[in-house]
Amino acid sequence: MVPNTTLTEQIKKLVELQKFDKEIFVLKKELEEKPVILKKIQDEFEGTKQKLHELEEKLKKVLVKRRDFELDLKAKEEQITKTNSQLSLIKTNKEYSAKLSEIENIKADKSIIEEKILLSFDEADAVNVEVDKEKQNVAEIEKLYLSEKKKIEDRIKEIQLRLSELTKSRDEIAPSIDKEHLVLYERIMKHKEGLGIVPVKGTFCSGCFMNVTQQMFNLLKMSEQLVRCETCSRILYVEDEN
Ligand SMILES: [Zn+2]
Repeated sequence: MVPNTTLTEQIKKLVELQKFDKEIFVLKKELEEKPVILKKIQDEFEGTKQKLHELEEKLKKVLVKRRDFELDLKAKEEQITKTNSQLSLIKTNKEYSAKLSEIENIKADKSIIEEKILLSFDEADAVNVEVDKEKQNVAEIEKLYLSEKKKIEDRIKEIQLRLSELTKSRDEIAPSIDKEHLVLYERIMKHKEGLGIVPVKGTFCSGCFMNVTQQMFNLLKMSEQLVRCETCSRILYVEDEN
């Protein structure tokens, strides 16, 4: 026992310590949840970008397809030039008209490809409109996400600041408490939701709301030893009348 202190004074100090520890417990719990919440809102935000990614992929495919068409078109043009140049070498009318019809066929193929290229421009335009719309949508959601993220980060800073204040205050009181009492209190607090010492309310332990026996009441009144709840093990005390 720390010299010159009665058990009543010790209990008063424990109650004072508990006030700080209770808030520390609640704040630490809140702090522990923050990274989980941050991860959740980040995942949700990343999820909203999915549609944009899909649209961008779709656009890429349209452009790749168009490039293929353009290569095909170039090949057809070369084929036409080549076939045209063969015309002058042809000796018979029959061969000549066969060659002409070959050229006509290539030209027909070429115009089909040209049509596909035109359609792919339309398609790309349509996808681009969707991409722009979705980009705007993502930007709006990002704004909300960032503001929510900032709120959480600010709260984390606030909690950390308050925790350092509370820890300082509790560390100022702790040395004035008998080591044995302090160790007991801290052990109970750690295992009992941050509450190591609780007042008796009426005839109930305010930690677990179980009845306090008459025998325990008598012990509490005597103030000769620490009394613990038989159900939850927490240290009990009777609040001052005033
Ligand atoms: Zn109890």
